[in-house]
Amino acid sequence: MTSNQRRPLIAGNWKMNLDLAGAKALVAGIQEAASRADGVETVIAPPFTSLAVVAQAVKGTKIRCASQNVHWAENGAFTGECAAASLKELGVESAIIGHSERRQHFGETDKSVHDRLGAALKAGLLPIVCIGESLDEREAQETWRVLETQMKGALEGFAPTDLSVLVIAYEPVWAIGTGKVATPAQAQEAHLFIRKKVASLYSEELATGLRILYGGSVKPDNVDELMSQPDVDGALVGGASLKADGFSRIIGFQVPAAS
Ligand code: PEP
Repeated sequence: MTSNQRRPLIAGNWKMNLDLAGAKALVAGIQEAASRADGVETVIAPPFTSLAVVAQAVKGTKIRCASQNVHWAENGAFTGECAAASLKELGVESAIIGHSERRQHFGETDKSVHDRLGAALKAGLLPIVCIGESLDEREAQETWRVLETQMKGALEGFAPTDLSVLVIAYEPVWAIGTGKVATPAQAQEAHLFIRKKVASLYSEELATGLRILYGGSVKPDNVDELMSQPDVDGALVGGASLKADGFSRIIGFQVPAAS
């Protein structure tokens, strides 16, 4: 696979926002942009409470519905969690795993991310695994160590063939919800690091085909430049995915033709 075959993916993480009416209105508001964006994959991740409604609303369209998490067990005494099969039953096709807010506020670890990834892969959910360093870690020059540790922890033990559908989202924690976006050069540097690491840990083939999204204050006015970077294959968008106009513009990002 060549880098040209990495289909751009724009994912919206709605976090704990929107009621049912708001969710339906937002889906309706981005349908046109998603259907117009040739070759771009659009994914939206509503809160668990809206999944059924949103999955139904996007059925037969170019938009895919994702959950914001998935549990590793098939069923059992795991209060507050949700099994992959239950998500699939609703029509959910993808799952965000290891978001920094899960790691920060809910004790998510590299091991739990690994186990959740296993469940997603087994169920055929497109996994979007989030990794990223905090501001302290970046300032302490620990970015590469953190990314490597998170990646190894999440991916350890899976065969390259299992991981062929894997999507990684590089989300520097200092850029999430802060309005402080990584520069395109910073994003590119991190994405290239991730790709090279996957090549050395797994295979060149897996690394070349791996889609790596950038997440952290992506907005309509910075998406084009970020998407122009050779190793940025898409975006994971939080705040700006909640407004139909803005998210539509992000889905329809424009990469200037190379001169
Ligand atoms: C996110 O939640 O993954 C995210 C990147 O949020 P925001 O775009 O608001 O920074």
